[in-house]
Amino acid sequence: MKKLIEDYFEQNKGLMIRDIMRLVRIKSDKEEAKAGKPYGDGPAEVLAVALEMASEMGFKTRNYDNYVGAIDFDDQKNKLDILAHLDVVPGGDGWSVTEPFNPVVKDGRLYGRGTIDDKGPAVAALYAMKAVKDLNIPLKAGVRLILGTDEECGSSDIRYYYGIEEEAPMTFSPDASFPVVNIEKGGLQG
Ligand SMILES: [Zn+2]
Repeated sequence: MKKLIEDYFEQNKGLMIRDIMRLVRIKSDKEEAKAGKPYGDGPAEVLAVALEMASEMGFKTRNYDNYVGAIDFDDQKNKLDILAHLDVVPGGDGWSVTEPFNPVVKDGRLYGRGTIDDKGPAVAALYAMKAVKDLNIPLKAGVRLILGTDEECGSSDIRYYYGIEEEAPMTFSPDASFPVVNIEKGGLQG
């Protein structure tokens, strides 16, 4: 089984990188709120593209008013929530390899704002679900990938979401330096 999964990712690596780059090209730092877009255009756009990506893979998706999007593995009740996010910190200056929203692969590394935090991990989680589906690996419970769009500015997106939905008994956050970072409990601003 392990070999099967490794081979799957070897074969799908190019597509996965392509999809990460597709999301990195969308500038998605927080902007002023607009009607129906609590964090502005960029975060809403990147969420729409990611949900479309997931529905093209055959997953059911739901957009929670442009706060978060949810992607369900199947119709079973979700026992695992995977929390990732598609907003980024501002592009910033001083880039040497490329510009922040023009991702490139160089010397085996992917450069661009959000590649590691957290568009890369978000797409990796989506491909993990796709691998389980494509390889027909049976699951005993549902899995829901939750894509937030306000992680960098206080996670009001997740508060909104859990105001509507119940928390799954298990959660993990593939964010930044996973597996060193594997859960987020809050932030202390110095
Ligand atoms: Zn993050």
